[in-house]
Amino acid sequence: MIPVQGHKDKKVAVLGLGRSGLATAIALEAGGAIPVVWDDNEAARDAAAAKGYPSTDLRKADVWDDIATLIVSPGIPHLYPAPNPVVRNAQSAGVQIDNDISLFFRSYATHEWDDFDIAPQVVAITGSNGKSTTAALIHHVLQHANRPAQLAGNIGRGALDIDPAHDGEVVVLELSSYQTELARALTPDVAVFTNLSPDHLDRHGGIGGYFAAKRRLFTEGGPDRAVIGIDENEGKFLAGLMAEGPSDDRVIRISVEGKLTGPGWMVFARKGFLSEYRKGRQVASIDLRGIAGLPGTHNHQNACCAYAAVRTLGLAPKVIEAALKTFGGLKHRSQVIRVLDSVTYVNDSKATNVDSAAKALQAFKDIRWIAGGQGKEGGISGLSQHLGSVRKAYLIGDSADEFAAQLGDTPFEQCGTMEQAIQAATKDAQAGDTVLLAPAAASFDQYKSFEHRGDDFTDLVNVLT
Ligand code: ADP
Repeated sequence: MIPVQGHKDKKVAVLGLGRSGLATAIALEAGGAIPVVWDDNEAARDAAAAKGYPSTDLRKADVWDDIATLIVSPGIPHLYPAPNPVVRNAQSAGVQIDNDISLFFRSYATHEWDDFDIAPQVVAITGSNGKSTTAALIHHVLQHANRPAQLAGNIGRGALDIDPAHDGEVVVLELSSYQTELARALTPDVAVFTNLSPDHLDRHGGIGGYFAAKRRLFTEGGPDRAVIGIDENEGKFLAGLMAEGPSDDRVIRISVEGKLTGPGWMVFARKGFLSEYRKGRQVASIDLRGIAGLPGTHNHQNACCAYAAVRTLGLAPKVIEAALKTFGGLKHRSQVIRVLDSVTYVNDSKATNVDSAAKALQAFKDIRWIAGGQGKEGGISGLSQHLGSVRKAYLIGDSADEFAAQLGDTPFEQCGTMEQAIQAATKDAQAGDTVLLAPAAASFDQYKSFEHRGDDFTDLVNVLT
């Protein structure tokens, strides 16, 4: 745990008592602050009280007199779609608003670092898709290269939950827009922006607010290096905003849509090959095509981002190449579970919407596609141009009829459950086919979560004979 610095003997309010809120209260107390906690949900208040943190009703206007700061949990919308009453109370009383990520950035460095040979560094990753995969990949490469590293934020442990720094370590921090939007301190050494597509628009008041939340990671603290995916307008703009000129190699541009040229530093993937160029010269080339843990162009984008991030930390291309080749992939994201009778079974249960399902469908050929669940607005109408590689769809869950009506000429079978879908797909599959779970729907009609759904798929595939 990272004891919070700078709030000794001060009262600090904590709004939201989920995993990060409780960890914040504990870290505040360890640093000598006095946490004053609240959650609108009674069960969460009871759970916090059982751990020694009784609640104070922060919805009341008269509790704010001696409170210095309000820490807001990432799950709580503060401004859109409607202002949060506790946040409004705090601001009326002149109390500053902040979050746990900011506390981490202010507290991670300590006097013990004076004795270190190599100062610890933080690599922070944001973007709409691929954050977890890129963060896990960076962590994997660092471990492979025997560099001490911790994985934290949205993946792994909460930022304040990690161990105090070791000499020369790197903290790899995955940050969502909910975490970047409020933090007063955002000072990573290396910041990564994978890509941008519309998401969480209610919470951010539209795409502009969503992009503004993400770009704070770059514009607030001024990282030493910025790794930026430039395949969307927003990424292009951000790279231009950060760079002092065309050859400023504080900015590393990333693309999977074509060759990048110019005097700066760039990493791109084309036809399955990653290339690094610096000052107009090619520095490295890596064949990504056979890496089982990184199938598809979307994963090549993640590989380019991770490659660039660890290059800024001084790793050599050969070392990175060897590490990329041993990356097993993340659970539930284009995860190869098994190859049985030359049929590959892939779990992409995290493909809960049309965008991520489209990427999965582009990543494989001859697909036996298991799809459906709790459908989202528009169903799979947005996938019509991505069905070329689908030999047949095996439909499950509540959305099955709606999806069937939107499949056009693609053959399909109504299967109801995951078990039946796997059986039917296995019966039909020919050598070289891929049985792909990429539901394009939420899981809650049949499962507790996308993880639960992916685990069910995995268990059922593992007992196939
Ligand atoms: P995040 O943490 O940003 O949600 P994940 O790595 O967990 O990203 O992947 C979420 C979903 O998006 C998965 O279905 C995955 O296959 C897909 N995906 C992964 N990387 C990318 C990318 N670079 N672009 C688009 N989709 C991606």
